[in-house]
Formats: sequence, C-alpha cells, structure tokens
Amino acid sequence: MQIYSQKDVKPKALKGARIAILGYGSQGRAHALNLKDSGYDVVVGLRKGGESWNKAKKDGLQVAEPAEAVKGAKLIAFLVPDLAQKDLYKSVLDNVALGATILFAHGFNIHYKLIKPRKDLDVVLIAPKGPGHLVRRQYEQGYGVPCLIAVEQNATKQGFHNALAYADGIGGTRGGVIKTTFAEETETDLFGEQSVLCGGTTELVQKGFEVLVEAGYQPEIAYYEVMHELKLIVDLLHEGGLAKMHKYVSETCKYGDLTRGSRIVNKATKREMKKVLAEVQSGKFARQWIAENKKDQKKYKQLMKKDLAHPIEKVGAKLRARMPWLEQ
Ligand code: NAD
Ligand code: MG
Repeated sequence: MQIYSQKDVKPKALKGARIAILGYGSQGRAHALNLKDSGYDVVVGLRKGGESWNKAKKDGLQVAEPAEAVKGAKLIAFLVPDLAQKDLYKSVLDNVALGATILFAHGFNIHYKLIKPRKDLDVVLIAPKGPGHLVRRQYEQGYGVPCLIAVEQNATKQGFHNALAYADGIGGTRGGVIKTTFAEETETDLFGEQSVLCGGTTELVQKGFEVLVEAGYQPEIAYYEVMHELKLIVDLLHEGGLAKMHKYVSETCKYGDLTRGSRIVNKATKREMKKVLAEVQSGKFARQWIAENKKDQKKYKQLMKKDLAHPIEKVGAKLRARMPWLEQ
C-alpha cells in the first residue's frame, strides 16, 4: 500500500490555479468551500436558475454556467451525479484548456467508458471515503476525511501532483491519501455500498424490525433496538474496530454476537456477495443502471417509494421528532 500525506504535495502543483467545481451537491459544496478556504481560486459551474446557484452564491463562491466556469481552469472536478457526467463533459469540452486536469470523485464514468477523455487531458480521481458534509465538517475542525487517489491518464505528467494538491486542499492528506486505480475504486465502492453499507445494512435493519414486530413487540421498542442503537455500535467500530466494540458491550452481548452473528450473515450471504461483486466487475450492474436512467428511472423510483413506505419509517419519524438534537 502507498499512502501520501501533506509532505508529499508538490508545492508548485496547482499554485495560483483556477479550479472549476461542476455541481454543488454533497461533494461539490464541500470541495468548493474547502478549496476556497485553502486559498484556491474556485469557480462553481452550475445551471443558471437551478437551486444550487443561489446557495453557492450565498456561500460566497464565484458561480458561472458550466461551459463558462471551465474556461481557463487548470483543474475541473465533475461532481454532478454519475449518470449526468457524460452529457456535462460533452457540453463543456470545447472550453476545456489543452492539458487541463479533469477530476472525478468516483471512477464510474471512466471505468465503464461512458466518458472517453480527450488525449491531452490528465484524468485523475480523488475519492473521499465519506459523505460531503463530513468532508466539510472535518476540514473545518482541522481534520480530514481520508481519500483515494488514482491517475488514469497522465498526458502532461502533472496529473498525480495536481490530484494530490487537490486532495490536500480538501483536507484529505490529514488522514492520508491511498493510491488506487479507477478500477479498484469503482468496483470496491459499488460493492461496499450495495452489500454492506447501504444495501446490506438497511436490509438487516428492516428484517430485524419486521421479526420483532411480527412477534408482537412494540414497533417503538423494535425501532430503538435495530435502527437507533445501530449508530452507537457503528461509532465504536469506526473509532476502534471490533476490539473497541467488544470493550464497550456486555459479556452477554459478546457471547450472543459470537455464537449467533454468523447464523444471520452466513455462507449463503457470502456467496451472494460474490455474485454481487461479479456483476460489478463484469459491468452488468453499470449497464442495468444506465438502462434504468434511459427509462426515466421508473423502476428505481418505484423501489424507492416502497423502501420509504416501510413501517419502520413511520415509527422512526415519530420518535426522532422528540429528539431534534439528532439532526445536528
Ligand atoms: P449530488 O447528487 O449530491 O449533487 C449533484 C449536483 O449536481 C447538484 O448540485 C445538482 O444540482 C447538480 N446536477 C444534478 N443533475 C445535473 C445535471 N443533469 N447537469 C448538471 N448538474 C446537475 O452528487 P454527489 O453525491 O455529491 O456526487 C457527485 C460525485 O461524487 C459522484 O461521482 C459520486 O459518485 C461521488 N461521490 C459521492 C459521495 C457521497 O457521499 N455523496 C462520496 C464519494 C464520491
Ligand atoms: Mg435497502
């Protein structure tokens, strides 16, 4: 493993450079504000009249239409939704300077070849391993969300240095920047969010809730047990791995964990995880998601509606309303 920190940043990289951030959502806002606070000349590229336009202005940033924003930029970060990046790339390309660096926060478009970048460009990845609000908050606190770095195309030989300087500008070198490839980042990221982080965890929570409620227990008790308390356990894992969690839970809990856990997430689950990974690796998942977008996300919207209609959402909303401090 290769990991980079502040001392590896080339002082001249991106010095005085103009950076265009396209998109002002979860990652875009965090990157733009952090880079500005790090002393860069930042311009945010947004559709005029869109919701984010006023927000970025209010945050004190320069704002322009994407095709304007990229003019004269040394580095251009594509931080709009993955499936919107290809059209955006095409729409700004004529104004992208020769030898500029284009940057992604997730490798999807390059790895699955939706975008085939112009040969003169440096193509790099800085993927923060955390959501945008944390990228911003930790930077303000003097910390930083760790990042991954990859270089797909190194036309000017400055791609890596520019990417690392960018990572430094958003606070990523504080925790460390690990070297990867577009393929590794894309495949592990998709697998993780599908099997463990979002897909796996929410399914585990929902099924656990259903089992308790179907057995006649109060939904409020079930909610606290399987959803609310999850954060407390995850925080321990995040801070100190399995060892820290075991240190803070009861002996009875530990014994139950060690004897029951592997019955729930078992060999069959692992086999299915391998299939999910294979679909990511073969591009089957990507093709399906691209096709879904061509059909106006009809199935996706249906599935989302169903997910949000789960009874745990009703109980949860009611209980969380009593704890407004959770939102902060
Ligand atoms: P987002 O959905 O939060 O924000 C999207 C932004 O793009 C918004 O400002 C929106 O107004 C704008 N936008 C939407 N559709 C557009 C279009 N058709 N044309 C132009 N602009 C449009 O996006 P995000 O979650 O920050 O994701 C950006 C990138 O960062 C993606 O590549 C994603 O995979 C990656 N990433 C996200 C996270 C995360 O936690 N959200 C973490 C790591 C990497
Ligand atoms: Mg789910």
